[in-house]
Amino acid sequence: MADWSRGGVRVCVRFRPQNALEASEGGRPCVEHRSDETCDVGGTSCFTFDRVFPAGTPQDDVYNFSAREVVESVLDGVNGTVIAYGQTSSGKTFTMEGDMDDEAQRGVVPRMVRTLFAGVAAAPPTIEFIIGVSMLEIYLERIRDLLAARPDGDAVEHASLAIHEERGGGVYVQGLSQEWVSCEADVYALLRRGARGRVTSATRMNEGSSRSHSVVLVFVRQREVTTGSVKTGKLCLVDLAGSESVGKTLARGTQLAEAKTINKSLSALGNVINALTADCATDSGSGGGGGAAGTPSAAARHVPYRDSKLTRVLQESLGGNARTALIVTCSSSSYNLDETLSSLKFGQRAK
Ligand code: ADP
Ligand code: MG
Repeated sequence: MADWSRGGVRVCVRFRPQNALEASEGGRPCVEHRSDETCDVGGTSCFTFDRVFPAGTPQDDVYNFSAREVVESVLDGVNGTVIAYGQTSSGKTFTMEGDMDDEAQRGVVPRMVRTLFAGVAAAPPTIEFIIGVSMLEIYLERIRDLLAARPDGDAVEHASLAIHEERGGGVYVQGLSQEWVSCEADVYALLRRGARGRVTSATRMNEGSSRSHSVVLVFVRQREVTTGSVKTGKLCLVDLAGSESVGKTLARGTQLAEAKTINKSLSALGNVINALTADCATDSGSGGGGGAAGTPSAAARHVPYRDSKLTRVLQESLGGNARTALIVTCSSSSYNLDETLSSLKFGQRAK
């Protein structure tokens, strides 16, 4: 199990049921579950993760194991990140958002938001909370503010916000808008607004949102009014672009450029997580500084954050003072076996 006190990454895999299209193409279910942590895929490969969720696992089980502690720690002033990785239509958005209007089908994000506001309601009256939400999309290595008033057409496609690094090491997206929220409903309204602003949904209906990374940031600042002490935590919720390889979709032109930038940013993410978890493993004998706050800054250890916009945006949310959960979503059909094996290998590297 990942040790979050040392910057480890908790890696879970969630399979979805085989769908009608896969069955009509001759696919068969090809995953056998050996235990809560282990599965056999395609009859040949055995994988172990912090948890493997079989097809049919309810949303609350996924939330309880992979994300609940992440949001709880944000209330303690520790940054938290949940990332969904997988090929298009493997269940990333189903896992992250789900159906926000259906209690049982709510995904990880609305469940985290509810836990956050329950924590606010349960806090002593001497604690003042300020909660802000930002949303951005990374498309072709350009960062777009999903909550800003948006210009139309080409201006949207080509706009990009810059990443700024402070002397003290803080990294932020310059000019990214932030909206204050005071209840769950405020957050859901913003999530819906942000979803409407995604360039990929606006300009290419058939492609959907699968070619861009979507990032929701929730900033939580709490101040104890009697002592003046302040605690801040940041939640980072990421629905990645589809991880499928270029070959399968016969990509050309813009699509090829998209596929290449996506592959590059996902491998950069893999490299960063790998560097962080390798550090985490070698740190174990070093003694001292074991607490989250005392963990040495990951930036000081040559973690390759600069290799993509995605890893730059996530820099403060991975490693160091952060709890990270990676949820790898996969089809359980043999029709997508190659993509599933490739996703599982990505997850394996992150452990
Ligand atoms: P992605 O975001 O990875 O492209 P989606 O989350 O949109 O994929 O899922 C694709 C389709 O599969 C959707 O219709 C979704 O409802 C369904 N689906 C995904 N995961 C599951 C699951 N675990 N159980 C049942 N249906 C699922
Ligand atoms: Mg999606």
